[in-house]
Amino acid sequence: MDISVVVPLYNEEDNVQLLYEEIKGVLDTMAEQAEIVFVDDGSRDTTLAKLEVIQAGDDHVRVVSLRRNFGQTAAMTAGFDHARGGVIITMDGDLQNDPHDIPQLVGKLNEGYDVVTGWRYDRQDPFLSRKLPSQLANRLISRVTGVGLHDYGCTLKAFRREVIDNINLYGEMHRFIPAIASGMGISFTEVKVNHRARRFGTSKYGISRTIRVVLDLITVKFMLSYATRPLHVFGTVGVVSSLLGVTIGLILTVQRQLFGIGLANRPLLLLAVLLIFMGIQFITIGLLAELVVRTYHESQKKPIYYVRKVLGEPVERAG
Ligand code: UDP
Ligand code: MG
Repeated sequence: MDISVVVPLYNEEDNVQLLYEEIKGVLDTMAEQAEIVFVDDGSRDTTLAKLEVIQAGDDHVRVVSLRRNFGQTAAMTAGFDHARGGVIITMDGDLQNDPHDIPQLVGKLNEGYDVVTGWRYDRQDPFLSRKLPSQLANRLISRVTGVGLHDYGCTLKAFRREVIDNINLYGEMHRFIPAIASGMGISFTEVKVNHRARRFGTSKYGISRTIRVVLDLITVKFMLSYATRPLHVFGTVGVVSSLLGVTIGLILTVQRQLFGIGLANRPLLLLAVLLIFMGIQFITIGLLAELVVRTYHESQKKPIYYVRKVLGEPVERAG
């Protein structure tokens, strides 16, 4: 199997058939062997029934039915686990992404990139509730992660299998796969893709998603930059805070002992104590995080590096 198209679906009954026909039409024009993995994310309408009918008539379709609604990221991960292709394409199941862009994405991968992401340059969604927050979020993500993409939220993306295999997703982090993968040293690029307005069904998200995206961004940034050295982050803050507190404390002590200036009405004393306490806490949290990080890496045999390739065989010792 060369290509797996992974599609998460939650209450998309009116889109399923059209989507299948459109994807199939595109895959049939391609030379590569391809399969479609539909993941029903606990839909409460007839989505699953429609998928079952489609699957019965086409061996190249796999349907993964989740027991309840686990969310888009979990649904996509379930799809990855059941996909057999060396290339994995993800797309939305609401017909907003255009399957006709698939050959374009695969072409870019064949040029040597590990990840190709779609850029909805002419996005067909409401401005205030979707495009504006998304634009701000995209800029923020680019700034913080140093990954220079225009559109992180576009589900239409293509990955080499190794990229997906090395990433564990939590929360709603599917949009951060390129950013997380950038920490592995993979190469990525983006291509402009078509985007269409939703014709059937309703969007599953509201404006509150923005907050969750920002929170996920903090996690990703931390994992990317400091996951193998948390004490450097917490410890730096802690040391600076403690030093500041101790300095203020010393000044107050000198003033009290040598010049007889009373301490009862000095708010600075409170600040000094607070800074020292905070400092100690930050350092302690950093140490705890060091323990957690070691458990995380060592219990799962997770490397702190990723090898591109190794040249030469190990030489056997004589004797
Ligand atoms: N989706 C899902 N599980 C969920 C929410 C959404 O599988 O809990 C699917 C949904 O069916 C669609 C895709 O994820 O195929 C994107 O969702 P939606 O179109 O609602 O997001 P938007 O385009 O509005 O950002
Ligand atoms: Mg949509």
